[in-house]
Amino acid sequence: MKIRIFQKGFNYSQDGRGNRLVLHLQGCNMHCPWCSNPEGMPLEGALLTQKEWLDESCCPKGAVREGLLCRQMCISCKEKPCVTKRRQRGIRLSCQEYSVDEIVKECEAAKPVFFEGGGVTLTGGEISMQFAGVRELLEKLGKKGIHRAIECNGSHPGMEELIPCVEQWIMDVKHYDEEVHREWIGVSNEWTLRNLERISAKHPDVLIRVPLIPGFNDSREDAEGFGQLFREKLHGENTRVEFLLYHEYGRDKWAQCGMEYKMKPGHLPPGIREFFEDRMKAYGIVCMRT
Ligand code: SF4
Ligand code: SF4
Repeated sequence: MKIRIFQKGFNYSQDGRGNRLVLHLQGCNMHCPWCSNPEGMPLEGALLTQKEWLDESCCPKGAVREGLLCRQMCISCKEKPCVTKRRQRGIRLSCQEYSVDEIVKECEAAKPVFFEGGGVTLTGGEISMQFAGVRELLEKLGKKGIHRAIECNGSHPGMEELIPCVEQWIMDVKHYDEEVHREWIGVSNEWTLRNLERISAKHPDVLIRVPLIPGFNDSREDAEGFGQLFREKLHGENTRVEFLLYHEYGRDKWAQCGMEYKMKPGHLPPGIREFFEDRMKAYGIVCMRT
């Protein structure tokens, strides 16, 4: 089985406990306008360009003119010589494909730096877009005694099948309201909310993450909406909630991928994270920060 990865790197305690090798898997079924990794959205990979370096010689089909790429022409281009034999600095494909065994080997080699309970985290994109490969990889990492964490958006109907293969489960919940979720992100939150309840009831170590986004989910009413949702759906002491603050780190990459960054300039109200955390206490929800 092969897996497409668009980013790899180590980080400490941000995406799971201890020091970890974090693998970002290509492909996402959601389309969050604030996404900081827009190059991870298309399952087949995204072409990123840098205008100042982009030269016409990379494309035998004439899709590059005056520093601009006509992406319509790229859709039917299977070979993509611009990122293989005509490769140059001005254009790159977001991801590379690896066999599961290659990835396992790389993870094993990194074992000496998995200190303080660390291991491997699979994140995205959305990992369930490559479900079969992810399951095989997690099973093989488990056999090597490597601690496994995932970060997902919870939207895959078969997500529960991964419970035995994961020591730490991180799941994003963007909004409690189906209509708002669909309007901003393009898909329903129905499966995310179903999985929220099931995973919380069955997995021993769950972290639910909510990115606070200006105008989307950062009002006082939204705090009550999340409080009611979590009171209803979260079970036991195994589940904690973390509120993350909006940032614009991915803005430039949207342009490099030929997509418009549609978030309007805006800020979160000062102290809003503390406010949400305080309100969660009233609903009996335990919050944390990583
Ligand atoms: S994907 Fe194909 S058409 Fe598009 S720039 Fe590359 S070589 Fe040209
Ligand atoms: S779910 Fe995550 S990876 Fe997918 S579009 Fe939203 S922020 Fe980006």
